[in-house]
Amino acid sequence: MRDEILALDRAHVWHPYTQAGDHREPLVIRSARGSHLFDQDGRAYLDGNSSWWTAGLGHGHPRLLRALREQSEILAHCALAGITHEPAARLAAELAAVAPRGLSHVFYTDNGSGAIEVALRLALQFWQAERAPQKQRFVSLEGAFHGDTSGSASLGGVDTFRHAYGPILFETIRVDFPAADAFDRAFAAVAERIRGERDSIAGVFVEPMLQGAAGMRVYDARYLKELRALCSANDVLLIADEVFTGYGRTGRMWAVDHAGIAPDLMCVGKTFSSLLPMAATLASSHIFDAMKGTTLYYGHTFCGNPLGAAVAREVLAIFRDEHILAQVQPKVAQIASAFERMSKMPAVLRTRALGMVGALDLSAAGYGGKLGWQVYDEARKRGAYLRPLGDTVYVCPPLTITVDELATLLTIVEESVHVVTEGAQTNPSPLNRE
Ligand SMILES: *Cc1c(COP(=O)(O)O)cnc(C)c1O
Repeated sequence: MRDEILALDRAHVWHPYTQAGDHREPLVIRSARGSHLFDQDGRAYLDGNSSWWTAGLGHGHPRLLRALREQSEILAHCALAGITHEPAARLAAELAAVAPRGLSHVFYTDNGSGAIEVALRLALQFWQAERAPQKQRFVSLEGAFHGDTSGSASLGGVDTFRHAYGPILFETIRVDFPAADAFDRAFAAVAERIRGERDSIAGVFVEPMLQGAAGMRVYDARYLKELRALCSANDVLLIADEVFTGYGRTGRMWAVDHAGIAPDLMCVGKTFSSLLPMAATLASSHIFDAMKGTTLYYGHTFCGNPLGAAVAREVLAIFRDEHILAQVQPKVAQIASAFERMSKMPAVLRTRALGMVGALDLSAAGYGGKLGWQVYDEARKRGAYLRPLGDTVYVCPPLTITVDELATLLTIVEESVHVVTEGAQTNPSPLNRE
C-alpha cells in the first residue's frame, strides 16, 4: 500500500514549496491524533510544526470532529450573499467579543492569503470613502510573509519566495526588520517614511511580534506600540496579520496583546478553523461606518462556509472551556529553557523562543541551507516531523501537546542537531559562530 501511494504521488502530485522531482521520500501519513501523525505502517511522529501551523488544538479533537459532523448534517454549504446562517452570524459576534478592542466586523474568506487580499482592498476603499484616494501604497517589513496570492506576495519580504513572480507583483514600501541590535534605527526609518509619505500611504502590514516564514524572527513589543501611535498620528491604517500568531501561538490570545494595542484591520486563519480552509478579516467599526453605502467587490465562492464557521466557533469554545492560554504557560517556559540550553551547543549560531515557538539557526544560509534538512532526516528517524526553514530548525507544536510529549520533541531536536553538527564540526566552514 505504502509503495503504491508513493508511486502514484511520484507520478502525479505536485507538492507545495518543494522542488519538482525532489527525490526526498515524503512521509505517507494515514491518520493523526493529538500531537501525533501516524504513517501507513502505524509509526508515530510528533507533529513538530502543527501541520503547517494549523493544528493549534492538535489533531482530531473530539469536539471539533463532533461540530463538523453535526453541522454537516444540517447545512454543509450555501452562499453568504443575500443569505446568512447561524454559524456565520454567531462566529462573527464571538470573534468580535474576543478580538482586540474596536474590531467589530468580520469578512470571511477561505485562506490566510485571501484574508490579506481583503485587508488590502478594504484599506484602499476606506481611503476612497474618506476622500483620500491618493492613499494607495502599502508598507511591509523586510522578511515579511503574508501569503501566496499576488497581492499578499507583493507585501512579502522574503526574496526566495518572490523572485520568480516579479512581473505579477506590485511595489510596496519595504522597511527594515526591527532586530534587537538595530531597533532604534529601524523605527526611525519607518517613522521617517510614514511621516514623509503619509499622503500616499494607505496602511502598514505587520506580523506582530514574530515573523514566521522568515525564520521565526522575534521582535520587541515596543515596535508595535510605537508603530500604533505613529500610524494614528499620520492617518495610516495598521493591519495585523495574526494568521500565524493568533490563537495563543505567542502565549497570548493575539500577538498584539503583548503591546496592548488594537489594529484597524486584523487577519486570522490557520488555528482559527484548525482543520478546514477558512479565514477572516476583522475590521474596526470606524472602517465599517466610513464604508457604509459602498460595496466590497470581493468574496470567494466558499466564503463563510457553514462547516468552517461551525468548527471555528468550537475552536473558540475550546479555548474558553479548556483554558488553553493558561495551559500553555508551563510549556512556554519548557520551550524557552530548552532553546536557551541549545544556544550553548557549539554548532548553533543563535536561538530564540516566544510562546509556543522555539527556533535555532545552524548557519546564516537562510532558506537555501542544507543542514536543516539533515536535522529533519534525523528527527524523522527518531519519531518527529520537523520541517525546517532552510537552516532554521524550529518547533511550533500543538498548544495542547502534553508536557511529556513536548519534552520528547525537544530532546529529539537536541539529539538531531547534535548528530548532524557533530560530523560537521570537524569541517568548521559553514558553522562559524558570529
Ligand atoms: C500562512 C500565513 C499566511 C497565508 O495563509 P494561507 O492560508 O496559507 O493562505 C499569511 N500570513 C501569515 C503570517 C502566515 O503565516
